Amino acid sequence: MTSKLEGKVAIVTGASSGIGEATAIALAAEKANVVLAARRGDRLNALAERIEASGGKALPVVTDVTDENQVKNLIEKTKAELGRIDILVNNAGIAVLGTIESGNTSDWRRSFDINVLGLLYATHAVLPVFKEQKSGHIVNISSVAGRTARAGVGVYNATKWGVNGLSEALRQEVHKDNIRVTIIEPGLVDTEINDHITDPITKQRFEERRNSITPLQSEDIAAAIVYAVTQPQRVNVNEILIRPTDQD
Ligand code: NDP
Repeated sequence: MTSKLEGKVAIVTGASSGIGEATAIALAAEKANVVLAARRGDRLNALAERIEASGGKALPVVTDVTDENQVKNLIEKTKAELGRIDILVNNAGIAVLGTIESGNTSDWRRSFDINVLGLLYATHAVLPVFKEQKSGHIVNISSVAGRTARAGVGVYNATKWGVNGLSEALRQEVHKDNIRVTIIEPGLVDTEINDHITDPITKQRFEERRNSITPLQSEDIAAAIVYAVTQPQRVNVNEILIRPTDQD
């Protein structure tokens, strides 16, 4: 049986763990050729081996999304080696949490560099390819935090509200070129993202919150992404907001 993504090429940033890793596996299971981008090459190589062992095709490309030249290389290398690009999942991201008063300003810059500028660099680099092909799909991983603000989440809120705003503007700019733009907004997902919280009080609060609910799994988000990218060309799934059932 032909899978819906047979012959398609999908790039996933932040593929070395969590949602990105699960998404790469899910897209490969639908027979997409997947390009795995992140900084940890050992993780990407292990994932590529796993996908290939299951009969898929995967190309690991070590990429720091905050470096515009590395992002351009990711797009150029994909086109050169796989001939086309159909889907870009802008997933790489970090969550720096804590109050604005207690904030570390270099963490703020890192958040915007990864969550907003990294996503923009990849989008900017892939658009000429999509325009030439007259098709393409950009999936931007935002968050519930891109829809609702919360004390202690302000900077992360700012990056994800930014992602939502630029995604809708982009959709209006490129829809006539047959290019689709989808925003995915997960609630709490059980991944490594919270391991990077450095402030001990914020970390404790977050862990209490996570332990008080049944969080989503990365595969739940990957399934939503597969849904969005396998709809007929006339359908642009603009936005999917997914919370754990017991999250407030
Ligand atoms: P993880 O920490 O498991 O994954 C984050 C990924 O981003 C890693 O693969 C990491 O790879 C990559 N990454 C970080 N910095 C860079 C960089 N500079 N260049 C390239 N890749 C980078 O977290 P999640 O899977 O949870 O997060 C994925 C996305 O989902 C993020 O955008 C996050 O904001 C969003 N999200 C997560 C939620 C959650 O509750 N977990 C909820 C809502 C949204 P490496 O370190 O190897 O570079």
